[in-house]
Amino acid sequence: MEKSWDCIVVGAGAAGLSAALVLGRARQRTLVVDAGRQSNLVAHGIGGLLGNDGRPPAEFYAAGRNELAAYPTVELRSGEVVAGERRDGGFVLDMADGSRETARRVLLASGMDYRFPPLPGIPERWGRSVFHCPFCHGWEVRDQPLGVLDRGATGVHRALLLRVWSDDVTLLANGPAELESDDVERLRSAGVTIDERPVAELCGPGTTLTAVVLSDGTERRLGGLLVPVTLYQRSPLAEQLGAAAGSPGPVVADAVEVDSMFQTGVPGLSAAGDLSCQMPSVANAITAGSNAAAGIVRSVVAEAHGLT
Ligand SMILES: Cc1cc2nc3c(=O)[nH]c(=O)nc-3n(C[C@H](O)[C@H](O)[C@H](O)COP(=O)(O)OP(=O)(O)OC[C@H]3O[C@@H](n4cnc5c(N)ncnc54)[C@H](O)[C@@H]3O)c2cc1C
Repeated sequence: MEKSWDCIVVGAGAAGLSAALVLGRARQRTLVVDAGRQSNLVAHGIGGLLGNDGRPPAEFYAAGRNELAAYPTVELRSGEVVAGERRDGGFVLDMADGSRETARRVLLASGMDYRFPPLPGIPERWGRSVFHCPFCHGWEVRDQPLGVLDRGATGVHRALLLRVWSDDVTLLANGPAELESDDVERLRSAGVTIDERPVAELCGPGTTLTAVVLSDGTERRLGGLLVPVTLYQRSPLAEQLGAAAGSPGPVVADAVEVDSMFQTGVPGLSAAGDLSCQMPSVANAITAGSNAAAGIVRSVVAEAHGLT
């Protein structure tokens, strides 16, 4: 092993860049490895991030990388960590290019895979007119006819939530809506239309949504569609390194379990951002990365001085 880093950060999205900034400012020898596939890259802009509201994600990540250039102990490398193991109280990570790096600490900030329903027309509009988070995208489609693809209790909550942005909201249950009578009444009094006809496809030019086509050929005019997503880990790396997944939440299937400083149960291994959270957002990822890095620096100092 030629060179051991103080910390390797896997992923340079909001969480990884934020962590690397704190680590660099604390003069930790830090390698950041990034495959360059941040989950929100397709979006027109970042909604709701103070100081950067509406900023195109690629521009935001470039600015974050530029800030790291001021810190000589941080190296940012394009690449992918394909495997890892714990060895001699530290970690060995294998890169896709065949190289191998070692570190005393590893911060996993590799984000999550957002999986949406398999309906024709969603993939090309994802992150634009089809979205999973009304706080991120609701403003951009405000006052247009909006749809919520969902059913049951979550469909009710999400349809009522979307009324914040439009008074023309349809719950597209894509089959039986599975609603309690109270909920039908709640939706009715909020002015939400319930449509149980199966959804065949979405239409509109490019990333724009103009309508959904229902199974009987009817078109329902829509300017935006809120869809349910489930987030899954992008790779088995956390598991390989011994980190445990917590219980599935309503949105995240297999988030890594961490404590309040984003440390996993494995000494020296932290996880921040979407990977270890139930409320994914850029702001939360920045906070998590920053706190995780502070925890890492404290743990290095504690170890060096025999503190428990
Ligand atoms: C379409 C869409 C739009 C969104 N819009 C908003 C919004 O407007 N506002 C908001 O607050 N939130 C938004 N979000 C949520 C937000 O994007 C995420 O919560 C946030 O980006 C998570 O940051 P992260 O650093 O954890 O992960 P990511 O941003 O996904 O970054 C992880 C990085 O790690 C890299 N990586 C993964 N595995 C490896 C590996 N093995 N080796 C090396 N690199 C690896 C990835 O390629 C990626 O570059 C949106 C999400 C989506 C999907």
